[in-house]
Amino acid sequence: MIDSFITLKRCARRVRNRTTLLFFRLCESQREKFECPVCGYKGPFMDFAASTGVRKHAKCPKCGALERHRLQFLVVNDVLGKINTARLKMLHFAPEPFFRKFFSKRFDHYERADLRMKGVDHHVDLQQLPFDDATYDFVFASHVLEHIPDDEKAICEICRILKPNGIAILPIPIIVEKTVEYPQPNRYGHHHVRAPGTDYFQKYERHFSRVERFSSDSLPGKYQLFIYEDRSRWTTKKCPLRPSTQGEKHIDIVPVCYV
Ligand SMILES: [Zn+2]
Repeated sequence: MIDSFITLKRCARRVRNRTTLLFFRLCESQREKFECPVCGYKGPFMDFAASTGVRKHAKCPKCGALERHRLQFLVVNDVLGKINTARLKMLHFAPEPFFRKFFSKRFDHYERADLRMKGVDHHVDLQQLPFDDATYDFVFASHVLEHIPDDEKAICEICRILKPNGIAILPIPIIVEKTVEYPQPNRYGHHHVRAPGTDYFQKYERHFSRVERFSSDSLPGKYQLFIYEDRSRWTTKKCPLRPSTQGEKHIDIVPVCYV
C-alpha cells in the first residue's frame, strides 16, 4: 500500500515536472537557447532568484543544474576521463544529489561526508578530519571552504588525507577580485565567512604541487557557464562587506588540485 502510494507520488511529480518544462519552453521560446551537459536538455535556461539578486540564464529547467554545476560537471568529466577510477577511493563533501549518482557509478569506493547533512557516511569537521593520512584518491568539495573559519587548516587536512597522486576539486564562489574575510558568518549570505576572490586559489598553491584552473570562458558557450548577476548594487544591507563590481557577466572557475 505504502509502495504504491510512493510510486503514485513519483508519477505525479514526473508529470508535473514535464508539464512545467513544456509550459516554460512555450512561454520562453524567444529567449537565447543553450545546452545542459548534465541532462542533455536544449533550450532556454531559467533565471534564478538567489539571496543576492536574480541571475540570468542560470538554471536548467529539466534537471535543475546551475551555472557552477554545469561547469563542474564538464571539468570533472574531463579530469576523470584521463584516469582509471575503477579502483580508486573517493570522498565527497556536502554531496550534491546529481553528483552522488555520477561519482558512485565511477568510483569503486565512494563515501560522503558533511558536518550536519543527514544520510552521509561521515559527520566530520573539515578542520579536523578523523581519517588516516593518504586514505583517499579523490576529494570533491564544492562551495564548502567559504563556510569554514580556518580554511587553511581545512585545505591542509584535505591534502593530508589524499594519497600521493591524489586529486582534489575545490570550487568556491568567485564573488570579488580580492578575497574579503568577514569578522563573523553572514547569516543573510548562506553563513559565509568570506567572499572569495580570484586570488583565493593561491591558498591551494601553497599546499598542492599543481593547481589547474578551468574558467567559464575556456569551455563552449552553448553550456552557459557564466554568472549573469548585477554586482554593481553591492554593497547591500545584507552583504555590507561585498564590494561592488562592474559588468553583468562574471566568470566562474573550477580549480583542480594535484598533490
Ligand atoms: Zn539539465
